[in-house]
Amino acid sequence: MHPIPRPPSRTTPGFAFSGLERAISECLGRRAFKKPEQEEILRHFGQQTAQCVFCGSPKVERWDHLVPIKDGGETVIGNMVPACAQCDDSKRDVPFDEWMRSNNEFSPKSRGVPGVEGRIAAIQAYVAHYSYQVVDLEQRLTPDELKRLGEIRDDLSGVRKKIESLIADFRKRTGEN
Ligand SMILES: [Zn+2]
Repeated sequence: MHPIPRPPSRTTPGFAFSGLERAISECLGRRAFKKPEQEEILRHFGQQTAQCVFCGSPKVERWDHLVPIKDGGETVIGNMVPACAQCDDSKRDVPFDEWMRSNNEFSPKSRGVPGVEGRIAAIQAYVAHYSYQVVDLEQRLTPDELKRLGEIRDDLSGVRKKIESLIADFRKRTGEN
């Protein structure tokens, strides 16, 4: 029997709105992350070719934000590290040191990665070297910009409620779920 492909997962307004929230946060932050910055990071970690800083895998497909965008992390040196997909997907928005030592199914500790504490120290030293600190939106934006952002968030929350109410009514009427 041929395997049947997985049906598409149903997207939700909540998912779409969290993407929008992420886009707003990202666009109201700094992004200085071209090839020279990327190469400098690899040099800092002493890597000839990219390796995942969390587990050492040479299968690096991504750059991970140590401080997630939703917590104000920006796309700049000191906050970006090369990561494999498995680590990036498993870590999500948990602080890296907490996740690396956790019993999460795919954490470096659970996977038996050698030298987890040394890896954590190296990442902490990297953050310190570039003096990376989260800059709060309150410091990034002018009072007027902050006010506009607040209004947008109120508007979005109203639109989201209207969409969810429409979907709930539709489901009640049709029995669709
Ligand atoms: Zn990894």
